[in-house]
Amino acid sequence: MDYQRGVKLLGDSMSEECGIIGVYSSEKRELARSIYYGLYALQHRGQEACGIALSSDNKILYHKNLGLVSEVFGEAVLESLPEADIAIGHVRYSTAAQDKSLANAQPLVFNGKRGKFAVVSNSSITNAKQLKADLLEENILFQTSLDSEVFGVLINKLSQNGYLDGVRQAVEMLEGSFSTIVMTRSKLIAIRDRFGMRPLVLGKIGLDDDYVVASETTALDAVGATYVRDLEPGEILVISSKGLQSIKWADETKHAFCIFEHVYFARPDSILEGQSVYKARRDSGKLLAKHFPVEADIVSGVPESANVAARGYSEESGIPFIEALAKNGYVGRTFIKPKQGMRESAVKIKLNAIKANVQGKRVVLVDDSIVRGTTSKKIVQMLRDAGAKEVHLRIASPIVKHPCFLGVDMQTYNQLIGAYRDADEICKLIGADSLAFLDIDMLDEACSNGNYPHGFCTGCFTGEYPVSIDKKELDKQFDD
Ligand code: SF4
Repeated sequence: MDYQRGVKLLGDSMSEECGIIGVYSSEKRELARSIYYGLYALQHRGQEACGIALSSDNKILYHKNLGLVSEVFGEAVLESLPEADIAIGHVRYSTAAQDKSLANAQPLVFNGKRGKFAVVSNSSITNAKQLKADLLEENILFQTSLDSEVFGVLINKLSQNGYLDGVRQAVEMLEGSFSTIVMTRSKLIAIRDRFGMRPLVLGKIGLDDDYVVASETTALDAVGATYVRDLEPGEILVISSKGLQSIKWADETKHAFCIFEHVYFARPDSILEGQSVYKARRDSGKLLAKHFPVEADIVSGVPESANVAARGYSEESGIPFIEALAKNGYVGRTFIKPKQGMRESAVKIKLNAIKANVQGKRVVLVDDSIVRGTTSKKIVQMLRDAGAKEVHLRIASPIVKHPCFLGVDMQTYNQLIGAYRDADEICKLIGADSLAFLDIDMLDEACSNGNYPHGFCTGCFTGEYPVSIDKKELDKQFDD
């Protein structure tokens, strides 16, 4: 599967919505620039829209728009944003079915009863529809289709004793997955759901009491922060002039971190819950080679996300890693898909076979996952057209058999090629010479680093979700 950098082109990808970052500084600084660099490091998590909100001189200001970070924030915009003590930022991914309007860009800034506050979130609140219906009954109006607006409205409603109290009460009403940052005029409040499904890490800048919270450690690196720790499931972390305050908001917590972060979403240079994503992917590739060997001349990965696993396969098998596919890095967000009937396929414009490397060769092609299968089929055919003698697909995760109801763009069984098929049937449909998937224990082993103390959500592979899922009643309306 290919990263969602730039465009939902391949039609075989899942997408998780959003990357978030917040910075608290002990004195006023050019925090807009820090957030800007952090958002660059999180761009792979969303390309539809982005924004920054700042707390400065008792005011909250913001700038957001549709587009990539590089499109929304030029030098003039950054120059126009004042120095600040606290700032938050967001990059958004939205699926084809979702409302891509500017109204749904974040941060969401609220004019509440205790002054302004702002929210950024990477979330899928499964009871948002019901919460919103209840609030509508109270004549509260909504301007977006985001579940973080529901959260913000609840915070305001429950903030008789201040916004922190509002956050504590509101968060207990939420079900589903969320990593969220709330910025008031004096506090940065970071919140993680009771299962720790979405990532959220804390970092420290320099020797001062300056802190960063972000979706991935790559954003800490980008702003010069050192990693301190991951937020715990069910934790509210408050950063203010009083320092750090950790509050446990959920009595019952459990680690059920989304294992797909390791498989595909996160950048390979990120550390997730103590485990290197690069190492997890390389070990996945090694396990694939160990358990599903095949005689071949070259090993290649589907760029970019499967290259690391392909290198692992190569290391373990001794078959040389040689690129079979070249990726066009200039296919952007505004790419217009070829009309039906045109000979060019969108896949072919983004990926192309390297004939000189594959002609007459038996190719092991490693991919991180297969969701819909349409892209895999096209890639296999592309390699055959380029002269590959055999194409053996090796997938560095199990068959995706179930939808994700927890924030990942893959919500129905009929979207999944593997929902009702085994590996042999999928292999026939895709047209490969052979096909093998890691099983869930092997993936767990690769992502656990041998001593990983926590658990994973593996729902899309096993059908076992950390939360009880009422598929009929599931809220599909809210989408951040
Ligand atoms: S169901 Fe799959 S994609 Fe969704 S949170 Fe769980 S592991 Fe991640």
